[in-house]
Amino acid sequence: MPAEPHLPGPCAALHPLHALAARRRLARALCAALLAAAALSPAQGQTGAAGRDGIEVGAQSRVSRLVSAEQLERDAAAQYRKLLAEAAAQQALGKDSHPQVQRLRRIAARIVLHASRFNPRAPQWKWEVNLIGSRQVNAFCMPGGKIAFFTGILDTLKLTDDEVATVMAHEVAHALREHGRERAAKSAIAQGVTLGASVLSQLLGYGDLGGLLAQTGAKFTMLSFSRGDETEADLVAMDLAARAGFDPRAGVKLWEKMTALGRNQPPQWMSTHPSHDTRIHEIRRNLGKVMPLYAQAIGRPVASLGPYRSNFGEPVR
Ligand SMILES: [Zn+2]
Repeated sequence: MPAEPHLPGPCAALHPLHALAARRRLARALCAALLAAAALSPAQGQTGAAGRDGIEVGAQSRVSRLVSAEQLERDAAAQYRKLLAEAAAQQALGKDSHPQVQRLRRIAARIVLHASRFNPRAPQWKWEVNLIGSRQVNAFCMPGGKIAFFTGILDTLKLTDDEVATVMAHEVAHALREHGRERAAKSAIAQGVTLGASVLSQLLGYGDLGGLLAQTGAKFTMLSFSRGDETEADLVAMDLAARAGFDPRAGVKLWEKMTALGRNQPPQWMSTHPSHDTRIHEIRRNLGKVMPLYAQAIGRPVASLGPYRSNFGEPVR
């Protein structure tokens, strides 16, 4: 077993400037898409009121206002840069030309179009999506829209596009609903600390990224969200994925796969999250709210939709 993580598949070497230019092009494309979505949807952008259809959410926590969203996003962006630089130094950062990177970015572009429904600041975020070569079964979205997937979650669970969209939308939902900001504020109150950038990064759990890839067996320190935050992220993810044209029933399959995997070796992404049976139950209970959105997104009547088929287990009806 190689101790060092690496990316499988073709990794065409790109000049760093080309990579930067490509990232800027992606950022511009995502911004343009977001602005277009905002212009088309005047009812959107209401914090705490996501609209008449789909999943409805409550108001953002008042306590989160103790932490500046701008400061948090700047700090997260700095942490993200550090992580990418470290991954790149170890040949573990997916190039812009890598098929899986392009796949993740295509999926993200569709999800991000609907992000302003759940956070009015989302159109200003500089969204980024990267792939890190690591066997960890993990993914995250930092405040401000900085997304990363580890190759481990794609390979181990053999995620279909619908399932990638479910994982991504779940992580994006945590960022949109500012669960990290709320948690940072609550932790600061509990610890009686003065809020500052360095403190924020520690509270967010991104403080140890420096050693992430350097040591064998090093674990990425993840935020552990509350059970309520997890349920909300699952539901918001169904809404985002359905509007983006991804089958929200993929969430059921994702948790079935996680359960099967967990029998031998609990993946970290799973261990920070609550009981699978409860999640599958909640997802199924809310499918009726989002299946019409999915059907509309792909231009078909709900009644004509067959079961969701994956590469594991029985189809989801
Ligand atoms: Zn979560």
